[in-house]
Amino acid sequence: MADEGFLTKKFGEGVENYYSGSPLNRLAFLRTNYSYLSTALQHPSTRFLLLKNLDPLASTPSTLAFLPYTDVSNLIANPYEVSEKAALEAFTSTIDHPVLIFLGIDESAPSSDSISTPDNKYTGQAYFSLDITPYPHLSYSLKATSLLSTISQNYPSHEFKTARKDLNLNNDHAAMYASARSLTNWNVTAPYCAGCGQKTMSVHAGTKRACPPLDGGVETRKCPSREGVHNINFPRTDPSVIMAIISSDGTKILLGRQKRWPKYWHSTLAGFLEPGESIEEAVRREVWEESGVTVGRVIIHSSQPWPFPASLMIGAIGEAVPGKEEIYLGNDPELEGAKWFGFEEVKEALAFTSGLYDGPPEGYKEGGLRLPPKTAIANQLIRAVVLGGVHLASSKI
Ligand SMILES: [Zn+2]
Repeated sequence: MADEGFLTKKFGEGVENYYSGSPLNRLAFLRTNYSYLSTALQHPSTRFLLLKNLDPLASTPSTLAFLPYTDVSNLIANPYEVSEKAALEAFTSTIDHPVLIFLGIDESAPSSDSISTPDNKYTGQAYFSLDITPYPHLSYSLKATSLLSTISQNYPSHEFKTARKDLNLNNDHAAMYASARSLTNWNVTAPYCAGCGQKTMSVHAGTKRACPPLDGGVETRKCPSREGVHNINFPRTDPSVIMAIISSDGTKILLGRQKRWPKYWHSTLAGFLEPGESIEEAVRREVWEESGVTVGRVIIHSSQPWPFPASLMIGAIGEAVPGKEEIYLGNDPELEGAKWFGFEEVKEALAFTSGLYDGPPEGYKEGGLRLPPKTAIANQLIRAVVLGGVHLASSKI
């Protein structure tokens, strides 16, 4: 529904990029309430998104599969049976647990499928994600292998799909998958404490790792993460910038291409934000390094979570400085080419887009410019520039 508030009237509707806009309320403040989590976990309506090597179990190319607790209970039992404090004290580093994340509740679910929060303020159907990759070095790997074979027998049409390649999931499922994938990857790749090197344990329903004071009843080494303020055991998000650059006369847009991309494919330039750099500076630096063009004014358009593994793409629009718009690729070998494209040519190309791995779309004429599809923030930025401004580009994709 259109938002008619002051900001919308003044600046136009916002853009909700693919991988954002989850339908779930994360209820972050209940992640330490193990009695609520325990009830939510075992409720008959609760659903689990399964990941294997970070790929999600899907029932169709555009729909994730969600399984009930009874399908996964052999593998996870009930990790919320005791309080988080008691679980930390009972920690034993030789016993591994699959990564389980409380994703939140869908408040639009029918009341028959919903559970209430302890204060009865919020009700909804609960969703978790569960990593069932049978990592051979972990103590539950045999159980995970057996669960995988049960799933392929019971759900023969479901499969673990490589989400990065197709971006065909529906918007709601893509957003749910984005947080599950990033958090799972972080848990799996951060098994040791950054403060002391000892094994950590997943707490806060999968959104924090704690360095336990005991291991098998024996006191562990002192650790800075257990004292005072610190941020070493929380997940990271890696900011990157992606930008549509307009020529100083406002008639052309700067696009580049990488060698591995299909023929005629171009996109906006992009790169990681470096420590101690503002978003605007990162935009100017990346554009100058990759294309030789000097950028002046920069505005921020929208952002897109990119869970491969934990990026946040900050979409910007920038303007080239008059007289400093010549393309030079000699500083940075990242791009095979970069070019100023007139808005008309880009508008035509926007009518026929498809995914990077999908082949040319229907109606495409060989030799014409190819651009990323609407699921990519690059498309939204290009759209905003060539269709006449942020206002006109707005749309839920
Ligand atoms: Zn530690």
